[in-house]
Amino acid sequence: MKIAIISDIHSNLEALEKVMELYQARKAEALFFLGDLVGYGPSPCEVCELMKDFMPSSVMGNHDYAVSYENNSVLDTFNLSAREMVLWTRNRLNEKSPEYLKQLRNLPLLREFSNMTFVHSTPYRPHEWNYIFNIRQAYYMFYEFKTQVCFVGHSHQPYILEKNPNDELELIDSNKIRIKKNCRYIINIGSVGQPRDLDNRACIAFLDITSGTGSYELFRLEYDISKTQQKMKESNLPKYLIDRLREGK
Ligand code: ZN
Repeated sequence: MKIAIISDIHSNLEALEKVMELYQARKAEALFFLGDLVGYGPSPCEVCELMKDFMPSSVMGNHDYAVSYENNSVLDTFNLSAREMVLWTRNRLNEKSPEYLKQLRNLPLLREFSNMTFVHSTPYRPHEWNYIFNIRQAYYMFYEFKTQVCFVGHSHQPYILEKNPNDELELIDSNKIRIKKNCRYIINIGSVGQPRDLDNRACIAFLDITSGTGSYELFRLEYDISKTQQKMKESNLPKYLIDRLREGK
């Protein structure tokens, strides 16, 4: 079975269109989305429209939650420009496509499918929107899901963690690995619309797996950043958010 996985689109239509081209070209059987469809970027309605058929294989991100639940207490955990964009996005969706707010609200926090777990933040208490900061935290996270692989997003920084049958954990510095039957994995697939690992190209991951063995590969794709930035300028969005797309941080 061959699947594609994407995360953290953040209302960036140009980056999303680019990764969708590769998804179509590589003929994956399904596309899973790990949350944060909206927030930060200039095209929330267009991105929701393009992704609406993939809602049954998507989970909720903290920005989707903040925008769709109108629960302003969650905004305390956001920085100023992120908070501004939650309110801007909510208004934009309310005006033009309120049905998408309902779709975002109905997304689950976690999904399991065929020996894989999909979650935005962490498999332990996903509603707390925590990050996995170090190997020690990651080690304990392996006890919080039952499947062979757990895919996460949220930090916008890709990584691969492999746990072998001796309970040893290795951080693998590569975009491509072989999946071994007797190992388990936590894989962060990075971000489509706002990568933060100093590489501004959009991320899309593919997993090809049969009976616990197979291959995983993360692709990085250039997209028309200037076009996204121009849209952001036209909507008077924060300069800091416009600049960081080019910087990839
Ligand atoms: Zn995000």
